[in-house]
Amino acid sequence: MLPRARAWGLALGLVVGCAPARDEPAAPREPTASSDPKRTVAGAFVPPGPRQRRDAVGSLEGLRGPDRRVFEEGEGLFHPVPQAGPGDWLDEHAERFQTFDDYRTHRTIHPDANRRAIYLVEIGEFPPGSSPSVDALARYVSTYFALPVQRLPPLDLPTLAVDARSSEGRIQLHAKQILERLRERKPDDAFTLVAITMFDLYPDEDWNFAYGYADGATQVGVFGFARLPTDPAQQLQRSAKTLTHELGHAFGVSHCTHYHCVMNGHNHEEEGRRAPMHLCPVDLRKLHHSIGFDPVKRYRRLLEVDRALGFLDEARWLEERLRQIEG
Ligand SMILES: [Zn+2]
Ligand SMILES: [Zn+2]
Repeated sequence: MLPRARAWGLALGLVVGCAPARDEPAAPREPTASSDPKRTVAGAFVPPGPRQRRDAVGSLEGLRGPDRRVFEEGEGLFHPVPQAGPGDWLDEHAERFQTFDDYRTHRTIHPDANRRAIYLVEIGEFPPGSSPSVDALARYVSTYFALPVQRLPPLDLPTLAVDARSSEGRIQLHAKQILERLRERKPDDAFTLVAITMFDLYPDEDWNFAYGYADGATQVGVFGFARLPTDPAQQLQRSAKTLTHELGHAFGVSHCTHYHCVMNGHNHEEEGRRAPMHLCPVDLRKLHHSIGFDPVKRYRRLLEVDRALGFLDEARWLEERLRQIEG
């Protein structure tokens, strides 16, 4: 039997990632008592109520009209983070409730005039028909973060020279070693450099696999799409969602514990599938603070890209949201 995967997000919150593999059902556990209202309790997660969600967005004093409504919950388009069922992320992992004020106070690394590009580099092949279009992903990410996306020449395995192993019929690459190679290659104008690959990943010998691995301190990460659906439309949508979730971590956004949101942690495929592609008001405000985009213009551009890429459910959500914000 393969060892159980361990949870991400240790090491002072600098190393983040998602969705450890599980190869056995979770053993029933007693809820861990906690007196810290700023943390969730594994096994006894209680979704926050309207007041706690509103407080997490922070004070909107001084904001008027669309500038204010963009960070307000409104009616019917945002939902609380779901109650965690057995085996779900928040059933197994304690997370900190990262409010907007926490983020603004503690996160000091942001893109600036000299370092604002998101760099993408492919590891190995992305054969058309069996892998997502990297051009489409680059377009989506650039619109989502309202930042330029640059590409580095693809890296092949001999050049990369990292450990690899075979597991469950897949070749897996050592994710931590990939991060070391990326740090050496990070261009001066890069805010973040992320590698994407159709190979599977493992960050340590005692993990089964990982969808991704990132270092928030040096803003490098690697994300593997080997386990995503093979249907082309679903594959593109899921890889776009995975990439934006992981890039959210590169901007210092923790797993969302307030809303059903692209930044929710996920422990298994179904949890990743059902998460929305959009950011909740709390996390939108964090990225707005970090990047400084115009949220309404960003929504409009994202609507065009979602339509062009066939993310039609998300496009409909954006149409509704723009109607709410613009009145
Ligand atoms: Zn994550
Ligand atoms: Zn969120």
